[in-house]
Amino acid sequence: MITLSVSTGQQVDFADITSRVREEVASSGVQNGIITIYVPHTTCGVTINESADRDVASDIKMQLAKLAPRDAGYSHLEGNADSHIKTSLIGSSEQVFIEDGKLVLGTWQGIFLCDFDGPRTRKVYLKILSD
Ligand code: ZN
Repeated sequence: MITLSVSTGQQVDFADITSRVREEVASSGVQNGIITIYVPHTTCGVTINESADRDVASDIKMQLAKLAPRDAGYSHLEGNADSHIKTSLIGSSEQVFIEDGKLVLGTWQGIFLCDFDGPRTRKVYLKILSD
């Protein structure tokens, strides 16, 4: 298993980790297989979506803020219930196929670490399986 360390810069921050995942696939030498990208946090997830236009990430953040407002009478005493809810909506893992040594992503797709309780340094676990 590979561990990436990703630092975020804002309370809610989407960090594009596509190039770092690509580098790990390249150095693994695996030509055909699958990679799992897993985030071991309760207030931080991972998603695949458009990376060409950063407004897409901004729009997702805006809508998640409407779905789970910061303060809505939650029971969780830590004060970050919205961060937990957003993480469950986004999910904690993604899988991408590897063909000819490359990630199989659509033209506009990128892999984002989605921090909902930053800024801080987060871990991303990668597991690469060969065919
Ligand atoms: Zn909490």
